[in-house]
Amino acid sequence: MGVIIIGGGIGGLTAAMSLHAAGIDVEVFEAAADVRPLGVGINVLPHAVRELTELGLQPLLAETGIATRELRYISAHGQEIWREARGLAAGYDWPQYSIHRGRLHMLLMVEARARLGARRVHTGRRLVRTEQDAAGVTAFFADGGQARGSVLVGADGIHSAVRAERLPDEGAPRWKGAVLWRATSVAPPFLDGATMIQCGHHDLKFVCYPIAHNPDGTQLINWIAERVLPADTPWNREDWNRQGSLAEVIPHYQDWRWPWLDVPALMARAEAVYEFPMVDRDPLPGWNQGRITLLGDAAHPMYPIGSNGASQAILDARVLAMHLGRCGGDWAAGLAAYDAARRPPTAALTLANRELGPDVILERVHQRAPQGFTDLNAVISQRELAETAAHYKKLAGFDPVLLNERESYTP
Ligand SMILES: Cc1cc2nc3c(=O)[nH]c(=O)nc-3n(C[C@H](O)[C@H](O)[C@H](O)COP(=O)(O)OP(=O)(O)OC[C@H]3O[C@@H](n4cnc5c(N)ncnc54)[C@H](O)[C@@H]3O)c2cc1C
Repeated sequence: MGVIIIGGGIGGLTAAMSLHAAGIDVEVFEAAADVRPLGVGINVLPHAVRELTELGLQPLLAETGIATRELRYISAHGQEIWREARGLAAGYDWPQYSIHRGRLHMLLMVEARARLGARRVHTGRRLVRTEQDAAGVTAFFADGGQARGSVLVGADGIHSAVRAERLPDEGAPRWKGAVLWRATSVAPPFLDGATMIQCGHHDLKFVCYPIAHNPDGTQLINWIAERVLPADTPWNREDWNRQGSLAEVIPHYQDWRWPWLDVPALMARAEAVYEFPMVDRDPLPGWNQGRITLLGDAAHPMYPIGSNGASQAILDARVLAMHLGRCGGDWAAGLAAYDAARRPPTAALTLANRELGPDVILERVHQRAPQGFTDLNAVISQRELAETAAHYKKLAGFDPVLLNERESYTP
């Protein structure tokens, strides 16, 4: 018997390919009957690109996404606060890719099917419950079918059924009152065509980066508008596919027209807009229960700050495969090593993101100079800016020196 993965999303498929590469028998069960390129843009940070590179996927990433060269922090008045090189330009041995989430998902799906065999990557199989005994774990699906394995991995996202079975009283994710409107627009490149920007402050933020080149010279540009809503606003349950409306965001950004980017004009070109509440969950005291563990958003849903959603799921997948690949059939030891390696850093990151993560510099500048500044150094020092950025990279596992020097997770 081998490993059963529940959820064929980014984490589940990466885990499946990593376990397969480690010589472990693996099967994936995805609830969606029809896997389509859903979502908008995400970033895959260099530590996660390293993992996908070691799985032989970097050429596909390079074809599909854009290698990000720079990150800039900008105030709500369009004033630059901080800029830093990213990916290869920052000295990493691996690029950072800004990429369409759905296209990344599809390329992982195609590769997983090719490597594992299409019959081991099931769609239309929604897990409803599990049962364990001394010899194995059984997954029960909504279609009445079952599967049995030595280990079961809950990689079933923010509404994880595996997690809910373990924690029936956990309730809904925590909402802090902010909503994200996420969209893509086709537009001419801004700045150098490979820069990501984070603008504004805690109550009103705008994030934007290109995720694909078009043959006519335009780009597919991903943007996220984040607003904190009044405290009594009802909360829409988080659904990655819930449509949002431009009318709910554009009026708040009317003044955000800068020589190098006209934010309302970019928003007006949106192809489709989705809304998603900013939610997370408290870190768990343990991910394992017998033969069952959790991975990705099922294990550690966190605020989408610092580009960690997909990247941390990819790291989980690779570390899980490393420990199961090395455990010599002692699954309990392999799962314990995985939990010890991945749970503490992702818990720390979840908590750091509640304090705004690296974006805290936007809020500090806004608090200290709400009307803008003439001398940035009088508002915030270069040292404070550099230390905030470096601290977060260490926490999230992508300090350039440590990443370039650490050993491979390939078992
Ligand atoms: C449709 C969709 C669109 C998204 N769009 C964005 C986006 O635009 N920007 C962004 O930052 N993040 C987006 N995300 C989230 C992002 O993919 C994750 O935060 C990140 O990649 C972590 O990956 P994951 O594998 O843990 O979770 P996910 O990528 O969410 O994958 C979880 C998978 O589990 C499946 N699943 C759920 N329940 C069951 C069940 N009971 N049985 C079997 N399978 C189940 C889901 O269908 C899904 O395919 C989206 C997720 C989804 C599912």
